[in-house]
Amino acid sequence: MNLKLLPALIALGLAATGAHAVVTDQMIENDAKTPGDILSWGLGTQGQRYSPLKQVTPANVAKLAPVWAFSFGGEKQRGQESQPVIHNGKMFVTGSYSRLFALDAATGKKLWKYEHRLPEGIMPCCDVVNRGAALYDNLVIFATLDAQLVALNQDTGDVVWKEKIDDYAAGYSATAAPIIANGLILTGVSGGEFGVVGRVEARDAKTGRMVWMRPTVEGHMGYSFDKDGNKKEIGISGTTNKSWPGDLWKTGGAATWLGGTYNAKTGLAYFGTGNPAPWNSHLRKGDNLFSCSTVAIDVKTGQIVWHYQGTPNDGWDFDGVNEFVTYDEGGKVLGGKADRNGFFYVIDAKNGHLENAFPFVKKITWATGIDLKTGRPNFVPENRPGDPTAGADAKKGVSVFSAPSFLGGKNQMPMAYSPDTKLFYVPANEWGMEIWNEPITYKKGAAYLGAGFTIKTVNDDYIGALRAIDPKTGKIVWEVKNNAPLWSGVLTTGGNLVFWGTPEGFLKAADAKTGKVVWEFQTGSGVVAPPISWEQSGEQFISVVSGWGGAVPLWGGDVASKVNYLEQGGMVWVFKIPKVVASAPTDAKTAKAVEVKVAKAP
Ligand code: CA
Ligand code: CA
Repeated sequence: MNLKLLPALIALGLAATGAHAVVTDQMIENDAKTPGDILSWGLGTQGQRYSPLKQVTPANVAKLAPVWAFSFGGEKQRGQESQPVIHNGKMFVTGSYSRLFALDAATGKKLWKYEHRLPEGIMPCCDVVNRGAALYDNLVIFATLDAQLVALNQDTGDVVWKEKIDDYAAGYSATAAPIIANGLILTGVSGGEFGVVGRVEARDAKTGRMVWMRPTVEGHMGYSFDKDGNKKEIGISGTTNKSWPGDLWKTGGAATWLGGTYNAKTGLAYFGTGNPAPWNSHLRKGDNLFSCSTVAIDVKTGQIVWHYQGTPNDGWDFDGVNEFVTYDEGGKVLGGKADRNGFFYVIDAKNGHLENAFPFVKKITWATGIDLKTGRPNFVPENRPGDPTAGADAKKGVSVFSAPSFLGGKNQMPMAYSPDTKLFYVPANEWGMEIWNEPITYKKGAAYLGAGFTIKTVNDDYIGALRAIDPKTGKIVWEVKNNAPLWSGVLTTGGNLVFWGTPEGFLKAADAKTGKVVWEFQTGSGVVAPPISWEQSGEQFISVVSGWGGAVPLWGGDVASKVNYLEQGGMVWVFKIPKVVASAPTDAKTAKAVEVKVAKAP
């Protein structure tokens, strides 16, 4: 046999049996540039949510029509915040209550499903959501509401490995999509409202074995782990008691509940951190590092290389978990972050230097701006909710009206960045809150807030606004207002489109340059998940998960009563421009021209 032919024959054999390449680190690193698959949350670990596909444009998007839809079924129609991932013609999508479905991406046919057995007593703060899975090797890996990581065989749905992140009875849970960097699966923890200790963990993605863990509350020790699981100290995060008084750092929050992003050029993973615990800021004088921050962690060593804190000594539950989206600009790698506190930050992704900061919402009461020299906010001291011990009965501090509300100028819904327009597309919300402090002591597994609140609207006609923002100038280039608060992520494409969803049930598309809404489709329930786009058999597909829920109906105060008419759901929708329509004449005049041409042919 001719040995030179062997590779070709093997390739032929692989094609014939339907075998396929497993997901490699190289493929994940190139994910943003390869529209035939979507391997990561964020359409690439940089999190730009930009698809280079150009088939669908503002000129033809009116023809975009559903191809298939799939129901998650059951009685578990709750918030669906999941971004599907696509590989080898299969879609892997997570649903509420820690479910994962494998579907044929072309037809919607169900291949298998995994339903995680959840124990009684899980404590997710903000609905039973999940934000998506990661792909590595032949595995699809996702986090569950009882704070576990589960890796399933992509073909069969069989459990390959399962690891406990932490104790759900202590308030830990997990809802974020993991990301993969250099063969490591990087995850955070949820539970900031229960006094957990935030951290980032790196595990061997093939086996689930822990490699390192890095706490995000100053004073806690980080560890690395050898192949036998023996742990070794790799240094305390920061300096014990430097930014925290007494023992409060031991239950300091700073949960990394939205997961992270990764940039291969810097070798750094970027995780946002939540509020310091408890909410009552008078108990914890100091900056309370590394809460309400972006921490940049060297993936090889598990060390924090830099951090930037948006809200030092937070008193408003301004979790700084929002995604840090990296992009190339003027020879630098920069990162953009639209913080829950209402400010947009542009930071050098390599060294943490603050390049620019500006408001992306119109009403901010707690600070007048960000000092670009020191990087610190200019606080409005009288807008900090009062110390309850200073009051007459020591039961309730002075209540203040603050904006944004604690649900944020932006919350979990990820924004998009277009390297074509060089604009960020930010799902923003304009709202405020009455907020006051109350006495509180830590009790394992109990809410640890020490605050009361009611969310209020600030405008009659809208709360949500999809905004195109220029990171250089801080200008809002265009906006599309929305009556209900936006809670869906955003997608932008090489075809000059921006896609996003609304709680009213629409998936919408706008011209990325002008903001003109050029298409919308009613999905039957609220959209609170990020849309995606990929290419299959030469056609561009768009998809989004629909299903109203998340934090707004649970915590929204006056706003929740405004949106309580919205119906729950649990459905994946997939769209494309139908082939027959794409090639058919668009009006009678053209049709006639075609007929004449055919008639004259020999
Ligand atoms: Ca890709
Ligand atoms: Ca929080």
